[in-house]
Amino acid sequence: MSAYLPRPLRQRLTAADGSRCAYCQTAVENTGQPLTVDHVIPQAQGGQTDFDNLCRACRRCNENKGTTILALDPLTGDVTPLFHPRRQRWQDHFAWDETGCRVLGLSACGRATAVALNINNEVMVDVRRRWVSAGWHPPG
Ligand SMILES: [Zn+2]
Repeated sequence: MSAYLPRPLRQRLTAADGSRCAYCQTAVENTGQPLTVDHVIPQAQGGQTDFDNLCRACRRCNENKGTTILALDPLTGDVTPLFHPRRQRWQDHFAWDETGCRVLGLSACGRATAVALNINNEVMVDVRRRWVSAGWHPPG
């Protein structure tokens, strides 16, 4: 999204999300691109441009998410709302695998979101692997 955001709102988002994607937790220095601002509930579906509906997201997660708000839990096949970074805690729905390179979905929401946003795409897993080998530790 490219809508104008007042500086105080941008600063509040940065304070809340730091320099990491609210979905995949990839740090901006690992993506090589500035983070985008994502409407958790897309504007096309009535989502507002306010703090409670915005988060910082890497370009890949934002583009993969698109206007999606529901996805299938790959374990049960149930339709599940995607992770909402303002209403849910990342640690309650996701964890890092033992290598620190792949995100595991702990809940239906976490699993559905990881698949829908393609959080463990091979490009990012390779990027994380290089950073982990260089001493980077994933947050969360
Ligand atoms: Zn991301």
